[in-house]
Amino acid sequence: MIITLDGPAGSGKSTTARALAKKLGGVYLDTGAMYRSVTLVALESGVNIGDAAKLDTIARTIVIDFQESTNGQKVFVNGRDITAAIRTPEVDANVSTVSAHPCVREKMVAQQRNIAKKHKTVIVEGRDTGSVVFPNADHKFFLSANPAERGKRRALQTGQAADKVQDIAKQIVERDSKDSSRSISPLVVPIGAVEIDNSHLNLDETLHKILQFLA
Ligand code: C5P
Repeated sequence: MIITLDGPAGSGKSTTARALAKKLGGVYLDTGAMYRSVTLVALESGVNIGDAAKLDTIARTIVIDFQESTNGQKVFVNGRDITAAIRTPEVDANVSTVSAHPCVREKMVAQQRNIAKKHKTVIVEGRDTGSVVFPNADHKFFLSANPAERGKRRALQTGQAADKVQDIAKQIVERDSKDSSRSISPLVVPIGAVEIDNSHLNLDETLHKILQFLA
């Protein structure tokens, strides 16, 4: 069974997808972490993020692994734990440009489909998972929340001060706009997806709503 959860940054996709995977005994696939990994490698190796050929090489050769741990899911690139390194403001600021390259998307989508094939139940979260990667998914959801709420959640997650919420919300809206306006696989509500605005819902309430649709 494949369940997709798409939506903008800070809409609670990761927390919800993780909790759902735990509840259903499935595997959680964080596709954003894959685009972040390519971005990190590009930045670390001094690759210009407009250089499609160089990004293509990175996307073709990168080995991304996910491992469950007591503190959540860890992400490894070529054997190195990059869980924290892919969540920096620098990666945030560059990932939308990297992920808009068709050659990068093609490689990541192929990897995502391969990973899904190996598991019975997969909860996938991202921007195009219900529209492009798994258009025939068993269940599709689209999560959203207002920008102020998303800014608040991101500030909490990253341990930033409350007075940074407005700036964070602004950066999130900029990233959404890039992700929604790109020509390839933009952030859209997938056909057949259930839309859930969780601005005023906590994790349990969001999860409860999703489970109602799976019943
Ligand atoms: O979900 P997260 O915020 O970690 O995603 C980081 C970035 O990766 C997004 O802003 C987007 O540019 C890209 N992404 C994407 N397609 C996906 C998942 C993420 O383009 N399926």
